Amino acid sequence: LMKYLVANWKMNSVDLDLWEKNFLKVIGSEKDFPKSHEVKLIICLNLYDYQLFSKKIQSSKNQIFQNIILYAQDVSRYKEGAHTGQISSHYLKNIGLEGSIVGHSELRENGDTENIVFQKGLKLKEQGLSNIFCIGEDLVTLESNEKKSFLLNQLKAFCKKDVKPDLLAYEPIWAIGTGIEADSENIKSSVSIINDFLEQKKINTSILYGGSVSVENILEIIAIPGIEGCLVGNSSLDGEQFAIIASKITG
Ligand code: PEP
Repeated sequence: LMKYLVANWKMNSVDLDLWEKNFLKVIGSEKDFPKSHEVKLIICLNLYDYQLFSKKIQSSKNQIFQNIILYAQDVSRYKEGAHTGQISSHYLKNIGLEGSIVGHSELRENGDTENIVFQKGLKLKEQGLSNIFCIGEDLVTLESNEKKSFLLNQLKAFCKKDVKPDLLAYEPIWAIGTGIEADSENIKSSVSIINDFLEQKKINTSILYGGSVSVENILEIIAIPGIEGCLVGNSSLDGEQFAIIASKITG
């Protein structure tokens, strides 16, 4: 079964040469590094880094590095026009990106409603681009036992018309960037809520976990039934850590 490891570099500055060097160092020393058909590596980066990094990928002699797929971190819900600062799905497609994250909690916090997230998914779909659809509850929702209805509401709002998650990242908000990873019982119960919904809707997609994934906890997280990969923020900023996580993800 294919596993997925997604890096979200967010608005951090990454030294691209160093990242590549550190990534390749691990690959060179790991004889059993998973093959590209075993784990798909996706990096979500800003468009300036994309231009530079895609050139590195194209000119690389390393097959694993060559097979890294590049996604945007966000997309406009509009087609084109007077939307200062936004980037259309058409533009992402034209410059060669393969997809984008939608519904990341940091963007939901900034005003992306369920409907806006859906519109963004629709725009990607219209261009034949893939989405990584992020959902997850905050601490108040978890502690007031409203996780199930909260997650179902997010899922229902997105899975409409022809839109569906191409990859689905379960990211409890309280675990993102905090160093607190979700406990496996919580992840398991969320996976079962999500899977019941997907089965009902006959949607086939892989569920990833995101929230303070690191070299230390990756084995524990990837062993949870139903988790087929991870979305990694902080630990993806260093090519070495990202590669070590990737090397452990096939279990
Ligand atoms: C994220 O950006 O979605 C994320 C999970 O970040 P971190 O790994 O830093 O918690």
